[in-house]
Amino acid sequence: MKEANLDPTEIAKFESLANRWWDKNSEFKPLHEINPLRLNFIDERAKLSGKTVLDIGCGGGILAESMSQRGAAVTGIDMAETSLAIAKIHGIESGIHVDYQQITAEELASNPQNHQQFDIITCLEMLEHVPDPKQIIQACSKLVKPSGHVFFSTINRNPKSYLFAIIGAEHILKLLPKGTHDYQKFIKPSELTKWIRATEFQFQEITGMTYNPITRHYRLNPNDIDVNYLIHATKPNQT
Ligand code: SAH
Repeated sequence: MKEANLDPTEIAKFESLANRWWDKNSEFKPLHEINPLRLNFIDERAKLSGKTVLDIGCGGGILAESMSQRGAAVTGIDMAETSLAIAKIHGIESGIHVDYQQITAEELASNPQNHQQFDIITCLEMLEHVPDPKQIIQACSKLVKPSGHVFFSTINRNPKSYLFAIIGAEHILKLLPKGTHDYQKFIKPSELTKWIRATEFQFQEITGMTYNPITRHYRLNPNDIDVNYLIHATKPNQT
């Protein structure tokens, strides 16, 4: 079998933090705070209610649960076992059903039975943690239905993103633990859109997610994709 497209040190990093996924004042605070913004962005474009969704790199289930609450049938996949255990327990406690599985997107896509199974795929804040992000995008293009939607978010690579996402977030504001992000693995929108276009996906839209350290608020900002950004693409209808 082909070697899995995952970095064991990255998985270990998330394993060690797993018990804090649902602590809104923990390392995961930024993900809790951006969640309503990205959830609305996805829902407005792909209409979650009644849809099947695959959430790749779901972690403790922050986005997965919220999409389920909007009426989607959500499958959450991740390779960190403890995160999935936390996600399952939290789902039971909150009465929200998500089908959690420990599997990679590529492995799921290697089974033709899973092809074209999902109306929507979300893969947020995950691509910058894998060795070969292009493979994830290729897997998504197999797994999503014709006319389906995909959403990717990650961090841009330039001096400003180094300053904001690493120096600012990890060293000055201490929003994230040191070493959370590796600058070399950040992805320029031009690279991500190139990989998207190499599949049959059609690029639809890009927006930035900006953090104001004074007000301590995040917002979606289509005019500033210098640091965090979110991309929407669709698969054409097969006729
Ligand atoms: N998508 C979630 C969590 C982002 S953190 C959110 O935005 O709220 C990144 C997650 O990706 C972690 O849970 C980590 O375990 C997972 N991950 C890293 N490499 C992975 C891989 N190759 N396959 C699946 N999940 C992976």
